[in-house]
Amino acid sequence: MSDTSTERACWCGHPALEPYSDEYRVCRACGTLVSRAPRTAGLYNQEYWTERQTQHHGLPAIGERARLDLPGRCTHWLARLLAVRLPPARVLEVGCAHGGYVALLGWAGYEATGTELSPWVARFANETFGVTVLAGPIESQPFQPGSFDIIILNDVIEHLADPVATLGHCATLLAKDGLFVIQTPEYIEHLGYEQLRASNDLFLKHMDRNNEEHLYLFSRRSAGIFFSRIGFAHLDFSAPVYSYDMSFVAGRGPVPSTDTASADEALARRPVGRLVLALLDKARESADRWWAVQRLEGRKE
Ligand SMILES: [Zn+2]
Repeated sequence: MSDTSTERACWCGHPALEPYSDEYRVCRACGTLVSRAPRTAGLYNQEYWTERQTQHHGLPAIGERARLDLPGRCTHWLARLLAVRLPPARVLEVGCAHGGYVALLGWAGYEATGTELSPWVARFANETFGVTVLAGPIESQPFQPGSFDIIILNDVIEHLADPVATLGHCATLLAKDGLFVIQTPEYIEHLGYEQLRASNDLFLKHMDRNNEEHLYLFSRRSAGIFFSRIGFAHLDFSAPVYSYDMSFVAGRGPVPSTDTASADEALARRPVGRLVLALLDKARESADRWWAVQRLEGRKE
């Protein structure tokens, strides 16, 4: 790729990007790593789920992940959501994969809907969990403005070709007091690529051989600038499931908080909510394993 004029610009519009690694450039204006890979049309099709995820990324097959994720990261995500908004509420998960989290949200008492690009995986989610998952880009879905209280994007914004346009559209779908709930890899700005290599930082798994998918890798600073630009200037960061990610809630105003007792009470009102509460109880027991993940030594300031 010798003609740099055709390379991807930063989402922020800053024109001058600096070298970072073979596969990424860095925007010092906002603090984002920008992929040098050309856009691959139609990447997130059935083969992405049945072949690329297992063979390229080494993940378990989607059926097994649907089972493993429920008591694992889905439960962690639910705990985070309960801490800002109790059910009932209208929740949309964009890029919901196998649909396990959409199902868990429904069992917890939320009115939950998902979207996925691939019709195959949308059908998988529907058949596996009995959830409503619509196929296609969020911009093409028949949702009315203001029709959701929460929009969740886990491991999604780093994949978007035009994140400002896509999240800007999502913002119109949120109620006035609506919230974004986000998980995405965290680029730590003071760490250069050589430092990541020297400490074999786990963040490298988001970069090396991955820039075809991960087009923008945000830092906390660039996430703040990004969400401010679409009108959500208030960010509340919390411990991510995995140390190489960041987890935050973004609101137009200050991010609210609930207490654990109120969340437990909300779940216990319905029989299936009791089962969800049992999952949360087990997750709290194993908090030292993945609940409040400590930063790896090499990633500390
Ligand atoms: Zn930028």
